[in-house]
Amino acid sequence: MKIKHILNIASGVLLTTLFTFNAHAQLGTNKETFTRADTLRGMLTPLRTCYDINYYHLDVKFDIDNKFISGNVLFKYTATQDFTKLQFDLFSNMKVEKVVYKGKEVPYSREFNAVFVTFPETIKNGSKDEFTVFYSGNPTIAKRAPWDGGIEYNVDSLGHKWVSTACQGMGASVWWPTKDHQADEVDSALISISVPNGLKDVSNGRLRKVTKLKDGYTRFDWFVANPINNYNIEANIGDYVHYSDTYVSEKGKLTLDFWPLSYNLEKAKKHWGANTKPMLKAFEHWFGPYPFYEDGYKLVETHHLGMEHQSGTAYGNHYQNGYLGRDLSGTGWGLKWDFIVVHESGHEWFANNITSKDLADMWIHESFTNYSESLFIEDNWGKQAGQEYVHGTRLGIQNDGPIIGPYNVNKEGSGDMYPKGGNLLNMIRTIINDDEKWRGILRGLNKTFYHQTVTYEQVVGYINQQSGKNLTPVFDQYLRHANIPTLEFMTIGGKLMVKWIADEHAFNMPVKVRLKGGEYQFITPKTRFTPLNINGATKDNIEVDTFNYYIGVLID
Ligand SMILES: [Zn+2]
Repeated sequence: MKIKHILNIASGVLLTTLFTFNAHAQLGTNKETFTRADTLRGMLTPLRTCYDINYYHLDVKFDIDNKFISGNVLFKYTATQDFTKLQFDLFSNMKVEKVVYKGKEVPYSREFNAVFVTFPETIKNGSKDEFTVFYSGNPTIAKRAPWDGGIEYNVDSLGHKWVSTACQGMGASVWWPTKDHQADEVDSALISISVPNGLKDVSNGRLRKVTKLKDGYTRFDWFVANPINNYNIEANIGDYVHYSDTYVSEKGKLTLDFWPLSYNLEKAKKHWGANTKPMLKAFEHWFGPYPFYEDGYKLVETHHLGMEHQSGTAYGNHYQNGYLGRDLSGTGWGLKWDFIVVHESGHEWFANNITSKDLADMWIHESFTNYSESLFIEDNWGKQAGQEYVHGTRLGIQNDGPIIGPYNVNKEGSGDMYPKGGNLLNMIRTIINDDEKWRGILRGLNKTFYHQTVTYEQVVGYINQQSGKNLTPVFDQYLRHANIPTLEFMTIGGKLMVKWIADEHAFNMPVKVRLKGGEYQFITPKTRFTPLNINGATKDNIEVDTFNYYIGVLID
């Protein structure tokens, strides 16, 4: 999630074949500085890598009137080396009441949002062990979820309390103690949320049990049978109603569960009904089976716009098409479907199935999911429609900084990870020039890295290996630099020469050119002038296909 597109309302799709463009946008020179707190949050230190988290049981009570939560979290883990001390994370405004190991309290210390626990004995490499953290406090209140994150407190139109969590980026440790690093996911989790009687909680996975407690609260136990990243674990509390459906697909029967607010039941049935199955059909075709059949597919209505909460997608797009009724592409194609159902569900494959190890590589979540929107369109209205949509989303590209953020400090890169990243992947498809192979690569990524956390090198390496092409310079240029490349033609000694102007010296992206009225053919320019080996080509008759390429073209 986290889309903050700047919308320029432009008319139609750019189809000019030759244009001049100042590719090298002015860049600010303000270098961000990082603190010890950033490193504690973002780096995989030995105090974190010494244990592999296997299972969480969150047991948390929401005292909504006081915006206060309390409870405990059981950590089950496997030691990956001998150690006596480890780190978990909990925001410093939250109180750690005690850490219990083998029935006894153990000492801990705190530094910023990190908590260090010392055990009375060496935990041996390979051993399976556990401890429980008891905690309480008033977690950060989200003012504008999902972007600023925390817990949002609202009331619905009938005055019922309506509460949701959203913590991507800032981290789950804003509301529960956890090893807050994307590289390590639990294998399964039990989420027990206690809420005032009369309200319901909807979390990830499947509802196992509802228990009436003695103190005016009801506890909802939700079990997630698959690996899940921390920021996806959710609590949604409100006056919900439930209905269900099934989807039969290549992997069998998938359960669909829907949790709208009570008064939106009819709207939800109609609108979610129209969007959910076409979305599943498109994404299973392009990406392979939905990755969490055991946990089912679920939509839950939230006050905030939306978030890819695994097997429990948060939805707040008001039962309408588009992105809050708008088309981010300016082409009209974006108004034919519900952006939040499609985009957030696309994340079940890219973000939830395949999760980036470092937030710096959030493009693995957002570029692929932005791109998934065009594949959804293609599946429903044809390839040309999908291509027009991708091209249209260039409206939102800022070229304001690298898409990959700094590593090890839990910082994401430029918001260009959405439209520019989507355009990059569409270019990769064009370069591979074999749609079935491309579909095989997208499905292969989801199969090869099934339920895993990954790096840039793994994703790009896989695409290189499967395509038989070294696309690293192309990925590097678009992901590691703000500038977009410029293709330059020049007549030297009577011969038409061509080169790329790019930050990456090895940049050699193939591009389609033709002589006026002729057939397009690929050329592979380098970053120094080489002759354009097309008979009869001159600066007056050469045409470059710019529909699929985000480039400038200079003709001297
Ligand atoms: Zn997203």
